[in-house]
Amino acid sequence: MIDQEYLKHYQPIIFRSFANAINEDHLSHALLLSGEPGLPLKEVAFFLAQSLVCDHRSPLACGHCLNCLRFMDGNYSDFQLIDGSISSIKKENVLTLEEDFSRTAIQKDAKMIYIIHLVENMTSEATNSLLKFLEEPHAGVYAILTTENESKVLPTIVSRTTNMAMIRSDRNSIIEQTHELDVPLNDAILLADIANEPSMLFNLYQSDIYQLVKENFLSLVKSFSLDSQAAAYVLQKNIAANIKSKEATRLFLDLMITLLEDTIKIKNNKEINFSFLRPEIEKIASNVIHPEKIVKEMVKLRGEIDLSLNLALVFDHLGYYIIKES
Ligand SMILES: [Zn+2]
Repeated sequence: MIDQEYLKHYQPIIFRSFANAINEDHLSHALLLSGEPGLPLKEVAFFLAQSLVCDHRSPLACGHCLNCLRFMDGNYSDFQLIDGSISSIKKENVLTLEEDFSRTAIQKDAKMIYIIHLVENMTSEATNSLLKFLEEPHAGVYAILTTENESKVLPTIVSRTTNMAMIRSDRNSIIEQTHELDVPLNDAILLADIANEPSMLFNLYQSDIYQLVKENFLSLVKSFSLDSQAAAYVLQKNIAANIKSKEATRLFLDLMITLLEDTIKIKNNKEINFSFLRPEIEKIASNVIHPEKIVKEMVKLRGEIDLSLNLALVFDHLGYYIIKES
């Protein structure tokens, strides 16, 4: 769970600057929270929003007052979330939000907050609507935007927000802390880059999606260590049939990216992340000629998942690419 202690410990800069701004009453009406994939962006955005409405801040949300309880239960009425991790954000989403908020802003003087999670996943029409809304802020309306890729956010949006950047925690310390939560070591190793916070990692470990993706990933690693043709076949037949959601595809690609990066590290005699798969990764490293090209292609594919209508094509393309670069 993200709370004051998490922020103080792992994100001290955000903790200090947000606490100062809110308690000295000079908080910007729009924040842009940026951080690499795997960082708890949405969770931190929620906690900052909760801190705005808390009646007993010390210095951030107390977690016990009526407003905090309402907020945590999803019963705080003057709050909205537009989640770009689920589907791309459209103009209608932004317009509905603006209408609701503009109407309410006239009626009462309560704080109204909206979060736009992964603002880079907006259509250009939605971005234009948001820009107008940011340019004419209503009193008491606060925006918290998040992004995993600031370079993909329109500069005009960036310039109208106060940027707060999250920092990544040390991989080994995440693995150690998650191990204390009874997550098996190998699972912690697989997930440490994908969920850069112990409770997030724990939740992901317990999810059905992870179990499905892990099983498919480990079976691919076995084939890949035998030869690249077999890996392509498994990707295009089995994995394309088993992994059907965008979320699962994203997770699968995340594991694949680390795997291929590990083959590059092995070629350069560097320490690898997936240490328990070393024998297989050594074989994959000798099978693949240009792992860096496959990594580049996978990063590109990962960025296009939201737009792809047919996920099987992602695996098909990846299989083709693995053969091409082997
Ligand atoms: Zn409170």
